[in-house]
Amino acid sequence: MSETWDDGPVAALRRIAFLLERSRADTYKVQAFRKAAAAVLPLSEDEVRARAEAGTLKELPGVGASTAAVIADAVAGRVPERLAKLEREEAGPLVDGGTELRAALRGDLHSHSDWSDGGSPIEEMAFTAMELGHEYLVLTDHSPRLTVANGLSAARLTKQLGVVDAVNQHLRQQGGEEGFTLLKGIEVDILDDGGLDQSEELLDRLDVRVASVHSKLKMEPEAMTRRMIAAVRNPRTNVLGHCTGRMVMGSRGTRDQSRFDARAVFEACAEHGTAVEINARPERRDPPGELIDLALELGCLFSIDSDSHAPGQLDFLIYGCARAEEHHVPADRIVNTWPRERLLDWATPTRSDH
Ligand SMILES: [Zn+2]
Ligand SMILES: [Zn+2]
Repeated sequence: MSETWDDGPVAALRRIAFLLERSRADTYKVQAFRKAAAAVLPLSEDEVRARAEAGTLKELPGVGASTAAVIADAVAGRVPERLAKLEREEAGPLVDGGTELRAALRGDLHSHSDWSDGGSPIEEMAFTAMELGHEYLVLTDHSPRLTVANGLSAARLTKQLGVVDAVNQHLRQQGGEEGFTLLKGIEVDILDDGGLDQSEELLDRLDVRVASVHSKLKMEPEAMTRRMIAAVRNPRTNVLGHCTGRMVMGSRGTRDQSRFDARAVFEACAEHGTAVEINARPERRDPPGELIDLALELGCLFSIDSDSHAPGQLDFLIYGCARAEEHHVPADRIVNTWPRERLLDWATPTRSDH
């Protein structure tokens, strides 16, 4: 059985990478396909075909035996074997349920590029989000203190804002997909005293700010509660990211949730209009179910975020949607079901009365 393939080698390699990332394959397995796509992208179709026929694809930097086979098939108009297998085995639903809420989501407020600890360039994240039908994606690379994740200094973040403008301009010039916008954001570390790890001036230039605890997760409950409340009361904080910090599975092992007075923290979230993130990453499943119930009862807003570190992980949103549905979170309480204008309005830090 050989079906035809009309979309060329780059699309075939990108689709393979997407499906691998979505099925949580190790990054190193995926990188080969993304690197090969980048190597082929600037070449003309004729040149790729000539190389396929001459057997010289592997001379291209980043192209190996398996990626050369994919390219050769695609350029000859055949569905590459590797792709056909992945479409058969990995393209189905990731989880039962969540489809209704997923259809209501217009975007994603938490994602990383290779500027911090993500695996792909900004434009690849944006393209993939667009292909998934998002109206917006907020790019939220890490803040300076998180050096293990290559957090962005003020200078690098300033530079990134210019790149986001350029990507948006480029997407608009490509035409067609009118309506998609890459939004400016940050996943800013919540410092020990509850302060945010970036200057107010820079935070004010962003569209959306996710604030998360990444250090001293084992702090005493009282100090942790004070720390988190200070962060969610900050008018610049829009979303409280993965609030317990727990890890329920995955290559980094498991980690207990941090201890804090969840009722007090969520009351502060409700009072200040800060959304409680339902982090969709399967290894996080954060907050735990009973805390989703509590936040719901206390009147909190929510955001369902992929926290993706690779394009294929943008599809993880469905995991969060399934959990939100299970806990009966109404769509209107989830800020990323809102139209972009309403979202941006909510996220603008002018609420000094709060
Ligand atoms: Zn985080
Ligand atoms: Zn993150």
